[in-house]
Amino acid sequence: MKIAQVASEVVPFAKTGGLADVAGVLPLALKELGEDVIIVMPGYKVIKDAKFAVERFKEGISYSIIGKNIKVYFIENDKYFNRDGLYGDKNGDYKDNLDRFSYFCKRTLELLKEINFSPDIIHCHDWQAAFIPVYLEALYKDDPFYKNTRTVFTIHNIGYQGLFPAEEFPKLGLERSFFNMEMLEFYGKINTLKGGIVFSDIINTVSPTYSREIQTKEFGFGLEGVLGKRKTDLFGILNGLDYSAWNPQNDKFIIKNYSAQNLEDKYKNKEELQKVCNFCLKKDVALFGIVSRLAAQKGFDILAEAIPSICKMNLQLVILGTGESKYHSLLEGIVKKHPKVVSLYLKFDNSLAHKIYAGSDIFLMPSRYEPCGLGQMISLKYGTIPLVFKTGGLADTINVNNGFVFSNYKKEDLIKTMDNAIQRFKDKKKWLELLKGAMRYNFSWQESAKKYLQLYEQARAK
Ligand code: ADP
Repeated sequence: MKIAQVASEVVPFAKTGGLADVAGVLPLALKELGEDVIIVMPGYKVIKDAKFAVERFKEGISYSIIGKNIKVYFIENDKYFNRDGLYGDKNGDYKDNLDRFSYFCKRTLELLKEINFSPDIIHCHDWQAAFIPVYLEALYKDDPFYKNTRTVFTIHNIGYQGLFPAEEFPKLGLERSFFNMEMLEFYGKINTLKGGIVFSDIINTVSPTYSREIQTKEFGFGLEGVLGKRKTDLFGILNGLDYSAWNPQNDKFIIKNYSAQNLEDKYKNKEELQKVCNFCLKKDVALFGIVSRLAAQKGFDILAEAIPSICKMNLQLVILGTGESKYHSLLEGIVKKHPKVVSLYLKFDNSLAHKIYAGSDIFLMPSRYEPCGLGQMISLKYGTIPLVFKTGGLADTINVNNGFVFSNYKKEDLIKTMDNAIQRFKDKKKWLELLKGAMRYNFSWQESAKKYLQLYEQARAK
């Protein structure tokens, strides 16, 4: 099958979130399964600055190679992409994001013709690639080159929809009829994600539970109705984890490598983390870890309410994250009061993240909603037991056999579940069993890629 992946961020070139991992790692797994894959993304300034090995294809288009000869094409345009951020700067989103990403999609469809890559599937990720199915319908409907092309559209987080004022509609070069409630219009605005949902052959999200949740008012961010109309074409596939980057047996960032066979060495990592955090070096105190964006979505609203009670419990808590400034100041205040209980790192630090996954006993991830989530999968691999809210990908990966789950999004339930976890932690024998079992879970990209292939087949049958 000829597959073009189109995304606004792709590892290792540019990343702000989990989308980049999917767009960069899924193609490698598809290639392993024998598929013909290319990737198309914007040619941002960060890519030029990082000096990747890049070749010029023609004016405005360059490419690089990843994995086993997978070409990654960069759509360049100084006016749109030669700036520091991917989507915005300290003042918020760039004002011309509609121009930037509609251009990206249009140019991508031209490029596929220029390189004579007539795809069976164009796999579009998130709102930035959502104009692809729209333009295929509007501009290429009768073009023989795209006659057999079908589209799969992945929603990584429905909270981000690419909303723009109606006045910008003429810039898109679409007939006015596209601006109606059944297509791109959403309460008087242009809704880019909605275009992707309406015009793609198949839609999916990054976990089965999230694919159901987004059809409800609580989680749909206003698009539940549109998704409901397409429910027979809507699926959920769990993301995989890149075990070459996350494996305690050969992790370069941690003080002592370990596996389920030599768990004593995990405790050397705990001791090291306690030193880093300036905590008492106690093996029998449960050490909780958080590595997260500091946002309400990630559970910081109830965590903020619960933290005075949490600080009175017999535990240690290390938090690594950046995000909303209100949580920065709130947590800084807590640490000042309770330096022996809470340790805080307000930054993005991959090396420290690895140390927290390895050194903690319990990984706290009380997200209010979570399309898939990586932290819980990583922590399982490191024998660090996840404690999660039952939602989205967390509900699909964590249960009583490998972690702690609460299902009422309330501070009382969070506190109670943390307390249960501490009680369980005291029973050394049972804890060890839980931990060894957790380390056996495997969320490989190979499995996810096979499921994506089935989805592509379903799209081709349309
Ligand atoms: P999201 O993409 O919604 O932020 P995920 O759980 O899917 O959440 O992925 C987050 C990833 O980013 C995880 O690998 C996590 O370890 C990492 N991460 C989040 N915050 C930080 C941070 N401050 N420092 C280092 N890594 C972080």
